[in-house]
Amino acid sequence: MLTLKHAAVIGAGTMGAQIAAHLANVGIPVRLLDIVPAELAPEEQKRGLTLQSPEVRNRVTRTLFDRAKKLSPAPLFVPEAAALVTLGNVADDLGAIRDADWVIEAVLERMDLKQELHKKIAALARPDALVTTNTSGLSINGIVEGLPREYRRRFFATHFFNPPRYMRLLELIPNTDTDPALMKSFAEFGETILGKGIVVGKDTPGFVANRIGCYDLQFALWLMIEQGLTIDEVDAITGPALGRPKSATFRLGDIVGVDLMAQMGRNLQGLLKSEEEIKLFRQPDFIEEMVKRGWWGEKKGQGFYQRVKTDKGREIRTLDYRTLEYRPQQKPQFDSLEAAGRSADAAGRLRGLCAAPDRAGQFAWKHLSSVISYAASRVPEIADDVVTVDNAMRWGYNWELGPFEIWDALGVKETAARLEQEGRPVPPLVGELLAAGQAAFYAQRGTKLFFFSPARRDYVESVESPKAVCLPRLHRDNRVVKSNAGASLVDLGDGVACLEFHAKMNVIGGDQLGLLREALEEVRRNFAGLVLGNQGPHFSAGANLMLVATQIQEQEWDEIDRLIRRFQQATSGLRQFAKPVVAACHGYTLGGGCETAMGCDHVVLAAETYMGLPEVGVGLIPAGQGTKEMLRRCTEAIPRTEDADFFPGVKFAWETIGLAKVSTSAPEALKYRYARSGESTIVMNKDWLIGEAKAKVLQLAASGYQPQPPRADLPAIGQSGLALFKCLLYQMRQARQISEHDEKIGAKLASVLCGGDLSWTHFVSEQYLLDLEREAFLSLCGEPKTLDRIKHTLKTGKPLRN
Ligand code: NAD
Repeated sequence: MLTLKHAAVIGAGTMGAQIAAHLANVGIPVRLLDIVPAELAPEEQKRGLTLQSPEVRNRVTRTLFDRAKKLSPAPLFVPEAAALVTLGNVADDLGAIRDADWVIEAVLERMDLKQELHKKIAALARPDALVTTNTSGLSINGIVEGLPREYRRRFFATHFFNPPRYMRLLELIPNTDTDPALMKSFAEFGETILGKGIVVGKDTPGFVANRIGCYDLQFALWLMIEQGLTIDEVDAITGPALGRPKSATFRLGDIVGVDLMAQMGRNLQGLLKSEEEIKLFRQPDFIEEMVKRGWWGEKKGQGFYQRVKTDKGREIRTLDYRTLEYRPQQKPQFDSLEAAGRSADAAGRLRGLCAAPDRAGQFAWKHLSSVISYAASRVPEIADDVVTVDNAMRWGYNWELGPFEIWDALGVKETAARLEQEGRPVPPLVGELLAAGQAAFYAQRGTKLFFFSPARRDYVESVESPKAVCLPRLHRDNRVVKSNAGASLVDLGDGVACLEFHAKMNVIGGDQLGLLREALEEVRRNFAGLVLGNQGPHFSAGANLMLVATQIQEQEWDEIDRLIRRFQQATSGLRQFAKPVVAACHGYTLGGGCETAMGCDHVVLAAETYMGLPEVGVGLIPAGQGTKEMLRRCTEAIPRTEDADFFPGVKFAWETIGLAKVSTSAPEALKYRYARSGESTIVMNKDWLIGEAKAKVLQLAASGYQPQPPRADLPAIGQSGLALFKCLLYQMRQARQISEHDEKIGAKLASVLCGGDLSWTHFVSEQYLLDLEREAFLSLCGEPKTLDRIKHTLKTGKPLRN
């Protein structure tokens, strides 16, 4: 794998600034350069600065990077990472790219600008430096035309998707002279260090993802006009029902920008030769009119949708493309969509929708069958194999299934027959698959994935990292040891088991706790250790709040008490278990999910882990060991001496829980102490999470794992701390920063963290604090305002301040 220790990014716009931020996220120092301003700003004039003042010369870069730092979602894992980005300008600092192992050009999408710049880079960069361009669609060969072969050898495109931190896809496009070994080595770097899903495309218009993605969007546009559907209707059909994100077709258009969308269509129209493509990528009149009027989407406040303030609050209106007027948004009613909404399985949903006779079904079939036919006709033109196209669409457009996975879901034979019946062409690749006597593009053998190669007329194995464990494939290969409705225990091989939750948002309730107990028994007898993890969207959004709400309403206090005891025993007992237990966290790792991870010997965190204890938002405090664990973590570095001051540590825990701080990245989870640095590993590539957790279990087991006894030296600072917290709460209440109920919860939380009403500091056991947690939780359950908060959150997904 390549070692790239220093980087330079040229062009600090939307992409350049965020690419620099992502390199800083992974610890790579970056120099970020943009142009020198041509004129002084009035402010600069007033301060007597000149165009030669360094402050002025870096203004464009600084302003752009400052703008990027304020973006939501944030490009940086933690604000401190910005220190790794050194700002400069191309007029004064281009020579400094000599320090860089990797130079990334991300200037405006203009061939002349890029060509000019690469001539300069070729003269200044180190002869062994890797150089890449971040173009959306310009010819890669064209950008370095006329430059020495030696430069072209180490040049290719690194096409990041926006926003670069969050989008998995990184397309690599070689020019005719690119060294394949260098690009392969970079691909490993991209997967491991940057956490990206790598797709190797060809120097063809739009490369892979945008070629299919733009076709999809344009086809939806023309089909909507042909079938007389509305924008609301098309978005209802082409969103989650079709295995796509909620942004569907037109909301995505507004996010990308209607101007850019039209520009991409025009570019493709200019570059593509077939009559079908030239016709399809033409922009309908209403789009041209929107571009002319500046209705470019989110950045202009209106596009296909418009947000307006009315007497009743904010309202979203939808464009009527026939009249170019906005009207109130409508929720389309289609039986087929309602049925699709009831199915969690993407393949089943697509089959149901495409077979439905209503207008939504007709649109879905025509749209989907055309897009997957187009994709099938583009291999090997844009990519060598079907996996590349599927990965590009899943990682670059967040589709649940790629085009060839859709072929398999709908049935290749059945889909081809239906196309023929409708007098529509069947793509040659599909014909070849069927002629070879096969019925699907993919096949699973054991736990390995194979795909159909037209060149071989047979299946070839998909090359995957050994770290890439795929749980659904293990299920299909009968590796499930035990399961119930909400969880499964899966054999990962090599003596490691994985307890996988699979409820909605992976909330933890009776099923999960029950299977955890059984899993530990099974692991004690037959495995070296256990991984807690899943491959759903989130590790766990917390304990089952609905269950708690029902028990409060029924006043089943003993039941709640039993439930919390059970939860506490499960989470705090993990460290005393005879074998290692490692959590693989990603996405929401909240409340009970966070407390479960806190109980493990080690946590493997995906970079995108949103971890926290937000119980106060629902009027409660963490009582599944979360409060106790935070006290332990925030005071563990303080020596246990008589005159030790534990208050700063206790206050950190109180503020973190009291303000319901949720990390926005794995490094921030460490900062908040939800994860401990000595007991956690951050993994950039999400697909490797379970594999890394498994490796950690094996490593712990091999190094003579010993369970940890419960601690008996947790500081309980008693009355002295309580008095200070009461004072703080009083001030916050006086300043109207918190409500009366917040004050009550804050006091309960302080009381647990201080170990109750003790006259002086004692050192107490974990169980002592678990009992306090439980009592405080139960007493808050009896508060009507807590029940109101829980009900509100269950209904809206948001916290209530009452
Ligand atoms: P942008 O307009 O936001 O930024 C381009 C920056 O380049 C500007 O800040 C400009 O001042 C700077 N620049 C122009 N000439 C320069 C020079 N000679 N030296 C240094 N800086 C110079 O554009 P963007 O959206 O960041 O796009 C940059 C590249 O990335 C384009 O090729 C674009 O096609 C590609 N891209 C964009 C997106 C996206 O969603 N915006 C996604 C993928 C790829």
